[in-house]
Amino acid sequence: MIFTAPHYFKDRHCGYCKDSKIDHYALQSQWNGSKDVAIDEKESILIGTQILQMSCNEYDKLINQGFRRSGKFLYKPDLLKTCCRLYTIRTSSKYLNLSKHHRKIINKFIKLIAPNLKLPAKNTFDFRNLYEAQLESKNFKTIIEPSKFTKEKFELYKKYQIRVHNDDPNDISENSFRRFLCDTPFPQEEVKGNTQQFKDLKIENWNKENKKRIGPTHELYYLDDKLIAISIMDFLPSGISSIYFIWDPDYAYLSLGTLSGLKEIQMCDKLGYDHYYLGYYIQDCEKMKYKKQFGGEILDLANEIYFPFEKVDKFLNNRLFVIGEKGQNIIQELEVENKGEPIDYEDSDFKDKELINIAEDIYGNDEISQDAEECKQILKDKYKIKVSTLTEVPNIIPGSIPIWQIIEWFENENLDLDFEVELFINGQIVDFKLRDLIPEGRGLIIDCIRIFGLELIQDSVIMVS
Ligand SMILES: [Zn+2]
Repeated sequence: MIFTAPHYFKDRHCGYCKDSKIDHYALQSQWNGSKDVAIDEKESILIGTQILQMSCNEYDKLINQGFRRSGKFLYKPDLLKTCCRLYTIRTSSKYLNLSKHHRKIINKFIKLIAPNLKLPAKNTFDFRNLYEAQLESKNFKTIIEPSKFTKEKFELYKKYQIRVHNDDPNDISENSFRRFLCDTPFPQEEVKGNTQQFKDLKIENWNKENKKRIGPTHELYYLDDKLIAISIMDFLPSGISSIYFIWDPDYAYLSLGTLSGLKEIQMCDKLGYDHYYLGYYIQDCEKMKYKKQFGGEILDLANEIYFPFEKVDKFLNNRLFVIGEKGQNIIQELEVENKGEPIDYEDSDFKDKELINIAEDIYGNDEISQDAEECKQILKDKYKIKVSTLTEVPNIIPGSIPIWQIIEWFENENLDLDFEVELFINGQIVDFKLRDLIPEGRGLIIDCIRIFGLELIQDSVIMVS
């Protein structure tokens, strides 16, 4: 991966709550009882970086550490402080519990595209018919292709943004569309794929045995040869990640957004992708309600475990959640691997246990923040490492490697000052050892390790200016 030094972004406009939340930081003020922390500021807070190059496999692991990409920008919210708590959510056909609403949408769509398909008798429903109807349809088809710009896509995007999101037409340019939904940080061979891959992605050829496409992908929906929707996705080793969905407002009656989710869950199943990633879920955001209706799992970043929705739903409530066990004694921040390989609840130690939310015990605990501050000082005194100086990343970020763990790595020699990094400076890539750098530079590398994990940084090039 090649990326610019990550940065901690504050004071950002929040597109989800439109800066309407006044309870941000409330968590902290509530916990530590202090009244002097700002409780009326409104901001979305995240760690972000520009990615120059990244493989789909690397991105897959990053998604499973709570990151998402927007074009070439990679980001992860600070779940402790941001106004809206953005949780990674994924599902699969195993979790899909079709509601009456879903069935209605599917039946309406089938009637339109395959009027001759025999629907099951009343009170029965067969999800497979959604697939059958598309196979049989004479007026509906989709084309799956690489994530490339076309005028046709742009025109639909523009119409959608103006009519559905009330965007100012002057703000919508071909370039903004390109940057947001066509450009990717992935290597050319993944972007382009090959002829066989796209042949295999035609619905009539769907098969679990096919070699899977890995790469950024657009699916174009045509009704009577008119483009009516575009689904923007990343096909990744562990699943398909949904990025954005554009639909023609003239076809609002088809509920294409929900329909595409159902179609894509089915596609994952038929093509043998394990998970369908729906991006972030925010419990108190009206626009996100549809995601919950697909069922699925929520990522607990600090434990690196996916919990089924119903196990953790009661803890979300726009609060930070970290699952723990009753009676657990919290003495420090949880150890984090940050390898992007979270386990399933079923395989975790929490299976069948009574779950509680221990976020407050960890992040509302003064001793733990003091401990982080002391550890920061030890890094500085003992190893001449000044963390947070260049990145401005706080001492404590849920789901990042705690500073105490970094010190432990130094003490156990899992990490030392001979650790090698590649930096992109003044137009060229230069190898450095940690010891060659000034304390702020060393701190930057350690911040990157805290944020992205040791493994990823070992194979990365960091751009510094
Ligand atoms: Zn917000």
